[in-house]
Amino acid sequence: VQGVDGTVVAVLGLGRSGLAAARALREGGAKVVVWDDTPAARDRAEAEGFEVRALTRDGSFDDVACLVTSPGIPHLYPAPNPVIAHALQAGVPVDNDIGLFFRSVGAEYDSFDTPPKVVAVTGSNGKSTTSALIHHVLTQAGRQCQLAGNIGRGVLDIDPPGDGGVVVLELSSYQTELSRALTPDVAVFTNLSPDHLDRHAGMGGYFAAKRRLFAEGGPDRCVIGVDEVEGRFLANQLSEGRGDDRVIRIATAKLTGPGWYVFARKGFLAEWRKGRQVASVDLREIPGLPGAHNHQNACAAWAACRSLGLGPREIEAGLRSFAGLPHRSQRIAEAGGVVYVNDSKATNVDSALKALLAFDRIRWVCGGLMKDGGLDGLAPGLSHVAKAYVIGREAETFALGLPGAEAEICTTMAEAVRRAMADAQPGEVVLLAPAAASFDQYDNFEKRGEDFIACVQAVLGQVG
Ligand code: ADP
Repeated sequence: VQGVDGTVVAVLGLGRSGLAAARALREGGAKVVVWDDTPAARDRAEAEGFEVRALTRDGSFDDVACLVTSPGIPHLYPAPNPVIAHALQAGVPVDNDIGLFFRSVGAEYDSFDTPPKVVAVTGSNGKSTTSALIHHVLTQAGRQCQLAGNIGRGVLDIDPPGDGGVVVLELSSYQTELSRALTPDVAVFTNLSPDHLDRHAGMGGYFAAKRRLFAEGGPDRCVIGVDEVEGRFLANQLSEGRGDDRVIRIATAKLTGPGWYVFARKGFLAEWRKGRQVASVDLREIPGLPGAHNHQNACAAWAACRSLGLGPREIEAGLRSFAGLPHRSQRIAEAGGVVYVNDSKATNVDSALKALLAFDRIRWVCGGLMKDGGLDGLAPGLSHVAKAYVIGREAETFALGLPGAEAEICTTMAEAVRRAMADAQPGEVVLLAPAAASFDQYDNFEKRGEDFIACVQAVLGQVG
């Protein structure tokens, strides 16, 4: 990290990104003081030679130039973490690893003949898939590319790319809400639906956090999903006074007009520019990108890669060879005419709705830690549900939110899978798409997905 030499920087939260930030700051010449509420994490940092300092004591920020925090720590709402409250009171700026990256990247990358480009991806759903897809397409096309941020490695852990290279950064709202510098070359906004409302004080705060990626003087190229009103508003605002080239609008319906558009309709992707079709691709048989929601991700990746100078044929080849990510529309088995799909990452209502809309008749394993905003948004998908098998500590409350759907309270994954499999008929899909967080029963969504796979395999093993 550049520009910190001789300053004191405090780091709060010593997980993967916090420790990487502490090391990078030390390399940049800063004196680093650290804190984490967990004693074991403090001990690990101390063993690496960092000074542990209780950052809630009076005067603990007197010599500190900046506080660097981790995305898991509530910054501003419902109440700031006590250390952050202290920093705010002392007038000390608060930042994160993403801000540190952008603050030093300009100076570092200017020394290249062809400076590396940074692509940042945000939105409610599809960030990981879109980021991984952009990375895959660029790598297949022979470009040097690093994937970091909310997916893959911490941004301060990556090897800087060489001349002409690309860094693809996935950014969650937790990361954009407080980063003090956000200056990507290409920024992607996939879509917006309710999520994390408890942490961002409602939809207004949530949209504002994501919107920070497009601040004044922001990215040269903006790829904006315009299926929702917020995206349409943002796209109009960003193109104002900047001609046709700054914004590429993406959608899951046809877009018309003189601008630059990439949209998916009836399984085909089309790129239009100045009223003419430039390219089209049949997405229907691409195994790594099932469903209209993944076609939206393909449009976002297409537009980002076009912004980096790739041609249509190169991008199409990359889309075709993309394997998909685990826990997102992941087909795990087929037996007796029944298909099994793990979409454990469907932690909010919109992503679960997209999963329901992707199949005709579903034995639906759902439930978990419910999010603010209710389940009403699932209604358009419930006609595809043969029956819901509800897990989680709040299973009964969850089931009440599914009016008109047949629902069984199962509580545990093993029970839900067993009953869904016993009921499933040929042609149906047994789908895990919880529409809820996993933390009531699991450490994370990956563990939940792995448990689903293990439960399915246990029953298939008995039958086979
Ligand atoms: P994120 O990183 O934004 O959470 P992921 O790519 O990990 O996005 O996907 C999260 C969940 O949303 C998965 O259940 C996935 O199937 C679903 N999903 C993926 N892309 C989209 C999209 N464009 N719109 C809605 N849901 C999506």
